[in-house]
Amino acid sequence: MLHDVFALPSGKTLDICLSIQTAILEHKLAPGLKLSEDEVGEIYGVSRTVVRAALQALAHSSLVTIRKNRGAFVAKPTMREAHEVFQARALIEPAVARLAADAITPADLDLLKAHLAAEHAALDSGDMSKALVLSGGFHTAIADIADHRVFTGMVRSLISRSSLIIALYSKRSDTACESHSHGALMDAFADNDAVAAEEIQKSHIIDLHSGLDLREKESDPKSLSQALGLAV
Ligand SMILES: [Zn+2]
Repeated sequence: MLHDVFALPSGKTLDICLSIQTAILEHKLAPGLKLSEDEVGEIYGVSRTVVRAALQALAHSSLVTIRKNRGAFVAKPTMREAHEVFQARALIEPAVARLAADAITPADLDLLKAHLAAEHAALDSGDMSKALVLSGGFHTAIADIADHRVFTGMVRSLISRSSLIIALYSKRSDTACESHSHGALMDAFADNDAVAAEEIQKSHIIDLHSGLDLREKESDPKSLSQALGLAV
């Protein structure tokens, strides 16, 4: 179910991506921390090539920032960026939900149901970072169904930036999307009710935005090996 986030990596690269992703989304790696290629390679016992591919994939999902000649760092979304990402989502995603409600097929509905079931399973097992990624995947799946060449790409980019924002700034202990909103969206899609889908998605995004605590807070930095040692 993680294909939305990691389209390319496989094998060892994917394992490292998932391990670092979990460590970032569970706040074990502080925003701004340098991810030295040598150190990451040593921790996982892999070559620089594998490490580089993993860091590139993480940069693609906005969890890591790669700076020219300086290397890779855990991404550090600012509060302004957090606001702006959610403002953009509140404008675009309701329109995308409307398109999806008109375009949805029975096969698409089954796919969304599978997403929702995986999200619930992750929440039930207490795997919050996985639940967070899966709930983002639910939103990108809706954008895929809408199949709009401009909006779909925009939603993908906004969702990948949202995971870390929610992980860092959510006031709620359970950081994934509230599943009842996703359930209500499913009902609207099953009825091809475009107006309801648009309204539910709009209030869902506004709710997510208002659930963020966008104030500066102290972090509890750990070293790279400490953090990744815990995550492996
Ligand atoms: Zn959601």
